[in-house]
Amino acid sequence: MRGHAVIIGGGIGGLAAATALGNDGWRVTVRERDAALPAAGTALGMWPAALRALDAMKAGQAVRETGAPQRSGEVRRPDGSRIVTIRTPADDPVHLISRPALLTILHRAAVDADIRFADPVDGLGSLDADLIVVADGVFSRTREHLFGPAYRARYSGTTAWRGTVDGLSTDMFVEMWGRGAKFGVTPQEGGRTNWFAAAGAPPGSFHPGEEAGVLRRMFGDWADPVAPVLEAVTEAGILHHDVYVTPPLPSYVSGNAVLIGDAAHAMTPDLGRGACEALVDAVTLARCLRETSTTADGLRSYDRRRRPVTRRLARMAGAAGRLSRVRHALPVRDGLLWASMLAGPPE
Ligand SMILES: Cc1cc2nc3c(=O)[nH]c(=O)nc-3n(C[C@H](O)[C@H](O)[C@H](O)COP(=O)(O)OP(=O)(O)OC[C@H]3O[C@@H](n4cnc5c(N)ncnc54)[C@H](O)[C@@H]3O)c2cc1C
Repeated sequence: MRGHAVIIGGGIGGLAAATALGNDGWRVTVRERDAALPAAGTALGMWPAALRALDAMKAGQAVRETGAPQRSGEVRRPDGSRIVTIRTPADDPVHLISRPALLTILHRAAVDADIRFADPVDGLGSLDADLIVVADGVFSRTREHLFGPAYRARYSGTTAWRGTVDGLSTDMFVEMWGRGAKFGVTPQEGGRTNWFAAAGAPPGSFHPGEEAGVLRRMFGDWADPVAPVLEAVTEAGILHHDVYVTPPLPSYVSGNAVLIGDAAHAMTPDLGRGACEALVDAVTLARCLRETSTTADGLRSYDRRRRPVTRRLARMAGAAGRLSRVRHALPVRDGLLWASMLAGPPE
C-alpha cells in the first residue's frame, strides 16, 4: 500500500519515518515547526536495535563512522568505587552521536521527502493525506487533540542537566549514583565528552545564570570523571530541562493517524532509549505497511508490535529513575541496581 504520507514533526522520529516510508515508495511531506535543524545538542546513545533500524534505512554506516563507540560502562558511587559493570555488545557497540549530527544524517537519508521547515501543524483538520505520522514529540499537541487532555505530558519528578566539554576524551560510559542524584559521562564524536546530571526536584527548579554553581555544590566532591568535567563546564554550555513523560496511550493509532517516538511513548532518559525507540518505530511502521494489504491493517500491526515493547521500556526507565532518586538505604539500592543489571540491557 503506497500513497501520500504527511509527517508532523521533523525530529528524530519524523525524519526516520520520512526515510523509511520514502524508501518504500510513499510520497512524503514533513512539516517541522522549527526554522532549521538544530545546530547544538548533546549525545544520544544508539543501542544495537537502533543501529539495526538505521541500517534498514541505509544510514547505519554513517552513524557508526560519525559517532563515538562506547567500549565499556560502569555505574559507580561518588567516591569512585564500582557498583556494577554495564554489559556492552562487543561486536556492534553502542555509538554516541550528537543530536544535530544524527538529524543531519537522517535529513540527508530522506532524499525524496519534501521537508518543510517553519511549517507548524495546528490541528489535523486541514491535513489531506492517506497517512498521518504524528512525530511532534513529548509535548505533542496532536496527541492531545486525538486522545484528550488526560494524555498531556506529565512531570516525571526528575530534573536534568546536559552538556559537552572538550579535552577530556573517553571511550567509557560512567554513571555515578549518589544520594538522590546521579552524574554521567560518555564519549561523543570529535573527541568531545558528553555529560549529564539528574536529580529529584519540584518542577521548574531552575537557576538561570547560576546552574554551574548549583552543579558544583551538588557534585563538587565527587571523584573522577565528574570532577574534571565540573571544572570544564561553563554556564553557557549547560542545558537544564525538567523531564516529562507521556501517560500510557490506549492505542498508537487513531483513524489514519499513527503516533511514533516521544509523541507515543516519551520515557525518562534513564535507559537512554527514547531516540532509539523512535528509530525502531519508524522502521517498524514502514515494514508493517509493506507487509499488509491496507493501511488500516498495517497500522493495527504496528500498534500490536510497538505498544507493548515501548510501554515495558517506559516502565523500566521510570523504575530506574525512581531508584536513582533514592536518598536512604543506599547499600540496598546499590544491590537492587546490581541485580537489575545481571540480565543485561533490555531488548
Ligand atoms: C536528558 C535527556 C537525555 C536523553 N538521552 C538519550 C539517549 O542517550 N539515547 C536515546 O535514545 N534517547 C535519549 N533521550 C530521548 C530522546 O531525546 C527523545 O526520545 C527523542 O528526541 C524523541 O524523538 P522524537 O522525534 O519523537 O521527538 P523530538 O526529537 O522532540 O522531535 C519532535 C519534533 O516535532 C517538532 N514539532 C513539535 N510540535 C510541532 C508542530 N505542531 N508542528 C510541526 N512540528 C512540530 C519539534 O520542533 C521537533 O523537531 C534523552 C532525552 C533527554 C531529555
